Amino acid sequence: MNGIVFDIKRFAVHDGPGIRTTVFLKGCPLSCRWCHNPESMSAEICSFPKTVRIGDKTFTEEETIGREISVNNLMAEIRKEKIFMEESGGGVTFSGGEPLQQYEFLLEMLQACHAEGIHTAVDTSGFASWSVLEKVAQYTDLFLYDLKLIEDTAHKHLTGVSNQLILSNLQRLLESGANVRIRIPFVEGATFTDKNIDETLDFLNALAIKPEAIDLLPYHNTASHKYERMKMVNEFDGMKSLNKGELTDVRERFESAGFSVKIGG
Ligand code: SF4
Repeated sequence: MNGIVFDIKRFAVHDGPGIRTTVFLKGCPLSCRWCHNPESMSAEICSFPKTVRIGDKTFTEEETIGREISVNNLMAEIRKEKIFMEESGGGVTFSGGEPLQQYEFLLEMLQACHAEGIHTAVDTSGFASWSVLEKVAQYTDLFLYDLKLIEDTAHKHLTGVSNQLILSNLQRLLESGANVRIRIPFVEGATFTDKNIDETLDFLNALAIKPEAIDLLPYHNTASHKYERMKMVNEFDGMKSLNKGELTDVRERFESAGFSVKIGG
């Protein structure tokens, strides 16, 4: 089976334990207004003009985003770093976009990794049917599960979809015994509000089964050039980036509630 991948990051250290290879799958059903990877939203392979400077000359060339790759060929790429994964307790992380969007390809990749003893992580928005998530969970050692906004109207407004499926999938995953790290992207003007922090803590405190840990991810305003090249509107252009120090108080609040918390991925 073939999938569409738009990037492969080697020697990643923020996408799960140890040294990892992170595979970015194309396509996402959400449209978060602060998205760092706007090139990932479309499920199709696409191309955009890219300006290249050589000396005092400027050229414009087309850059293709996404390529089709088979399970066998992607496994061959992953195997190149297997020694580093084994020695560091790392593995492979599937990210996106939303990797569950290509769930049949994802499932085959997860099965192939497990057959070779490679640790697997899936970085997901949780926006998929439970039947898909349940199948994927059988071959996923760790979920990196995004929790953006608890209030549904705000979630719809800022991500384009309701969070009801996301929240119920998270509860079901935890109850099924899956290992889950929650990831909360804190974005000034969107998710980083007292109201959302209070509601997120209330939601997590009410869970019958608690997640393994929580990562607080400060937003960095670094994707403007991508929006420009793709001629997409960047509503968060100019939005202030957050630094780790600004999340110290929030971390203390989550830790006081009994959670293991890390700032950054
Ligand atoms: S879920 Fe992730 S990839 Fe999809 S739009 Fe939101 S930030 Fe971008």
